[in-house]
Amino acid sequence: MGTAIDPASDRRLAAALDAARAASRAIAAVGDPQALSSGSVVEKGAAGPATVADLASQAAIVIALRRALGAGVEIVAEESLEEAEALGGAALVARAHSAFAASGIDAGEASFRDALASCAGEGGVGSFWTVDPLDGTKGYLRGGQFAVAIALVERGRPVLGVLAAPRLGMDGSGPGDGILAVAIDGLGAVQSPLASWSPRPVRAHPWSPGDAVRIAGSVEKAHSSSDSLEARAAALGTVDPVRIDSQAKYALVARGDADCYVRLSPSAGYRECIWDHAAGALIARESGAVVTDAAGRPLDFSCGRRFRDASGIVCATPRLHESLVRLLAGAASAD
Ligand code: AMP
Ligand code: MG
Repeated sequence: MGTAIDPASDRRLAAALDAARAASRAIAAVGDPQALSSGSVVEKGAAGPATVADLASQAAIVIALRRALGAGVEIVAEESLEEAEALGGAALVARAHSAFAASGIDAGEASFRDALASCAGEGGVGSFWTVDPLDGTKGYLRGGQFAVAIALVERGRPVLGVLAAPRLGMDGSGPGDGILAVAIDGLGAVQSPLASWSPRPVRAHPWSPGDAVRIAGSVEKAHSSSDSLEARAAALGTVDPVRIDSQAKYALVARGDADCYVRLSPSAGYRECIWDHAAGALIARESGAVVTDAAGRPLDFSCGRRFRDASGIVCATPRLHESLVRLLAGAASAD
């Protein structure tokens, strides 16, 4: 099966793939995350942990994108130099710079610091990249899944998305040697082994009433009310939960290894960050899924670093998507 998704004819895609690979090398260079010293991990309060790997990955992506596409490219990303220094001091940043060296990008500590200090913008209606350098940091630290997420957003919609999931296999939901999942607006979605670009188109599984409902959800109970959602979804069929960290959930829906991804934050009023969804939502959409907020409204990536509304996320093929939104609306009105 062929694909029009070709880095040889699309410099933005080539840059995003190079950035994702450089980031994956930097993360790998950190070694076993369970052996990280306490000085290599900081707690950002409600935003959860960040590690030297998050910082090294972000700098690799930012420098790779700007070297390939121009120094003026706007990047909205999760981590910031200011916060890293406030929480972990100069030692944390210096350790992250050492890991960054393994990305294969030659840049001194000043450029590294600049890369981390220049991603605090709000995005908005124009064209910008949004980056989660290490989505699912808790999964990464636990030995679970995580993803490097890079997306180009134009006029409030993702138009190019790359996810690298270095611990995910090419099928099922289990571990493996790593994948890249990629989509371009209007051109479909593909996945490839992370180690060598060999793209294969992916399609979401067309769920029908009567089928079991394979629901991808968070491992972390503080991130998503998976238990109560799975209980409610029993109204649609036998529920088969697929608990997995990070935007790997979108990749599973995109390749038919889960029927849906539903995310309802247990924290009242929690507004999802755009970098937690831009790449994954495009990949799922280009594979045939519908991705909206929990009320069925399109996601609007032009409102700043977080979505304006706080209703959660529903990603599924059209028939299941409609059933889930109806189910959630009923549950909301019954609450
Ligand atoms: P997951 O691996 O799907 O559980 O999601 C990881 C993401 O959860 C992180 O990137 C955070 O941005 C996000 N997160 C952190 N706190 C919350 C929360 N209270 N509700 C929902 N998501 C959260
Ligand atoms: Mg994240």
